[in-house]
Amino acid sequence: MLIGGLQKFSLLDYPGHVTAIVFTQGCNFRCQFCYNPMLVWPPEVGKLKNSFSSKNEGIKKGHPLIKEGDLFDFLKSRMGKLDGVVVSGGEPTIQRDLPEFLAKIKELGFKIKLDTNGTSPNMLKKVLAKKLVDYIAMDIKAPAEKYEKVTGVKSNFSKIKESIKIIRESGLPYEFRSTTVPGLHSAEDIRKMGELIRGADKWFLQILKSNTDLINIELEKVKPYTKKEMEEFKKIGLKLVKECRVR
Ligand code: SF4
Repeated sequence: MLIGGLQKFSLLDYPGHVTAIVFTQGCNFRCQFCYNPMLVWPPEVGKLKNSFSSKNEGIKKGHPLIKEGDLFDFLKSRMGKLDGVVVSGGEPTIQRDLPEFLAKIKELGFKIKLDTNGTSPNMLKKVLAKKLVDYIAMDIKAPAEKYEKVTGVKSNFSKIKESIKIIRESGLPYEFRSTTVPGLHSAEDIRKMGELIRGADKWFLQILKSNTDLINIELEKVKPYTKKEMEEFKKIGLKLVKECRVR
């Protein structure tokens, strides 16, 4: 596994659980609003350029990697102290050895929350069949027709839809989440995104974090939607899913 980061303690990421968060390195999306660009670039220098802004163009380099052995030494030292491990990214499902990695975490007795962008339904099926995940969070980035614009890459939208179905039918607790960006997401877009997950258990609408490094640096100047605007989006969401919250 390519591991780009570790947060040793979190009370916020996995509902009701005390966790550590493992950030895998590398992602197959380039979401304009991504506030973890250092986790998106591959670990080696020289592969990718940011296409969103001429100012931000150039060769990017990801985080230095954390050795898997060091990570597991840390996790062993937290057995009995943490309930679980959140495996986030980057995008964990693009790493072929994800099942083996999750199995090693499970062997230590931790519950696992997996964060995903939903581009790898086959990997989702694999880890679910092996019962390696206890909670799944998947991002809904945009309505179908805007996926490419928002995520910065051509993607196969049928895979996104397949992942939504797999997660909803998994029998596990899950959440969908969407970051809302003025200029990228309108109220109508929010409705269309809600339609994609109509009837789902939980949908979190997230306020853009614009006061940090983003993949599209032009968005760093954008004023996020206000609480009032987000509450209006929530009303749209509540008509479509069982629980919709702003965070
Ligand atoms: S899927 Fe997540 S990690 Fe990847 S670019 Fe988008 S926001 Fe960043």
